[in-house]
Amino acid sequence: MKQGGGYPNKRNKNVSKVYFDSGNDQAFVSRDREGWGEMSVFKDLWWFFRMEKRAYAIGILVLLVLALTHLIFPYAVRVVIDQIAAGTLQMSDLVFWSVGLLAVAVFEYGLGVIWRLQLFGAANRLGRLLRDRLYRHYTKMSPAFYHRRRTGDLMAHATNDIQAVVGTAGDGVLTLVDSIISGGVVILTMVWFIDWRLTLVALIPMPFMAWATGKYGGMIHRRFMLAQEAFSRLNDKVQENISGVRVIKAFGQERAEQEEFERILDDVVRKNVAVAKVDALFDPTIQIVVGSSFFLAVAYGSFLVAGRELSLGELTQFTILLGQLIWPMLAFGWLFNIVERGRASHERIRNLLSVEPDITDREDASEVPASGDIEVRIRSFTYPGVEQPALRDIFTGIKRGQTLGIVGKTGSGKTTLLRLLLREFDVTDGEIRIGGKPVTGYQLEALRRSIGYVPQDHVLFSTTVGENIAFGKPDATREEIEEAARIACVHDDILNFEKGYDTVVGERGVTLSGGQKQRISIARAVLLDPEILVLDDALSAVDGRTEHAILTRLRENRKGKTTLIAAHRLSAVEHADLIVVLDEGRIVASGTHAELMETSPWYREMVEKQQLESLVLEGGGGVGPETSPPVS
Ligand code: ADP
Repeated sequence: MKQGGGYPNKRNKNVSKVYFDSGNDQAFVSRDREGWGEMSVFKDLWWFFRMEKRAYAIGILVLLVLALTHLIFPYAVRVVIDQIAAGTLQMSDLVFWSVGLLAVAVFEYGLGVIWRLQLFGAANRLGRLLRDRLYRHYTKMSPAFYHRRRTGDLMAHATNDIQAVVGTAGDGVLTLVDSIISGGVVILTMVWFIDWRLTLVALIPMPFMAWATGKYGGMIHRRFMLAQEAFSRLNDKVQENISGVRVIKAFGQERAEQEEFERILDDVVRKNVAVAKVDALFDPTIQIVVGSSFFLAVAYGSFLVAGRELSLGELTQFTILLGQLIWPMLAFGWLFNIVERGRASHERIRNLLSVEPDITDREDASEVPASGDIEVRIRSFTYPGVEQPALRDIFTGIKRGQTLGIVGKTGSGKTTLLRLLLREFDVTDGEIRIGGKPVTGYQLEALRRSIGYVPQDHVLFSTTVGENIAFGKPDATREEIEEAARIACVHDDILNFEKGYDTVVGERGVTLSGGQKQRISIARAVLLDPEILVLDDALSAVDGRTEHAILTRLRENRKGKTTLIAAHRLSAVEHADLIVVLDEGRIVASGTHAELMETSPWYREMVEKQQLESLVLEGGGGVGPETSPPVS
């Protein structure tokens, strides 16, 4: 990107590149802080420059040396031309300069590699550092944090914003140093060694170039971002239509979708043309400025030559130097854009990093994994930002090794109760105790190591089935994995896949049914053989028989260990030692299955209704524990 001199045409392609690369439209939302104030980002990044002081010192030093070596060529031309004009040029001089210039070119080549490695290397290390910091920060955040922020925004911070800061630490430093050092050296040479009046005249159009670069650069960038947005809308639309193609066809909406697609397509074209328009203005503008600068130099220079105040060689040297000034001027214009984007992005990253995690370890928190009886004493719990409590007066508990069933309508608070046990949120009034100690008394890691959690919305990663099961225990043997899969009644399904346990799951692999996904999630938790197993409506997508088989195997394999089962279908909790019925965040009944059949009309009604439902669904084969044949 850096170029010693010459015509700027080739670099104009790069102009666009710089603007597009560190894409960040919000940086342009407010331009009132534009100007030298933006340079504060260099101060903000000072800690990094100090950390990488060797790389930056070498990089800047090399740039300085290069700025000086660039002066050799124009000087050589001047000497040779003057010798030609005076008729004193010797063959030996010509050989000297040719060999010398070749040596300089090789030297500059080497230095060019060095500064790039130093400056861009350091900038990329900053990228690594910030990405790592941000990722760690993300992993510390609670679900409440992710609830408040859009995934797209968080991704944008991790990509665009970091890229913009990296741009400041690399391109920003380069353009700053280059415009000041290279530009300064060239101008000083012109003034001191050639003619200060000629310098003054030739430079008249140059500030306009820096201004134009800054101005057009900003415009190109903003329009480019709009074009990008339109393009991603187009992408989203295509994706949505491909995945929803069955619905579109079923509802006969092809035509409407086609029209909508064309509308978005037109928008993309319009916005790209808008970019091209400014881009098209950019080249001629630079050319006109450079052209007038050369015109002034040659016109006034010839006048000086005619008056014998300047030699022909000096004038030639001057015009070459003028060519070398184009890059620093462009760089100066870019500098403000790069730095402006970097500052805004850096500020956003800093704000994000300063968000404290809501769930943290208490100082005296225990490292010992949680185990023992579970006591729930929640007077009330309200989700952050909501007025109505999600849970109220939940007083219950079970002994270690027992099973607790939690049932109730959708929205009654079952998941909320389990999330409080996992400390995804902290109870606002009251506490949950495990082994006599509140959950806040355990280190988060110790607490979660004791709990195997199967959430309602199962998550499978794009890797093999085996690795998905071994997610929480990567060093598990194949036998352990298969055993867990057998308990979860998914082993046979897996063997039927083309590559068995090595079958890849997800977009690029096999498509699993909802029930298979649920059972793989269960196997994942079972593999950990956790002290407390939590199934949050984790059997909803499997049929009654499979549910029964899984529960039977769990009971056999989890003797002495605690299990919590939240379920919509009551057959899932039939064998629980205690069942609590939730309604609108309160316990409305509790007891064993037999007791609730007696005391809770809702429970009895639901059991009967659901039994009838499954009889109908399963062709009257019966779903009760007594009648189900074992499923392998
Ligand atoms: P269930 O698991 O029984 O279907 P939940 O525990 O998911 O019920 O929900 C209980 C109540 O809490 C519902 O009214 C739900 O709208 C509310 N709720 C759940 N999650 C949140 C949240 N993150 N923020 C605010 N309210 C929530």
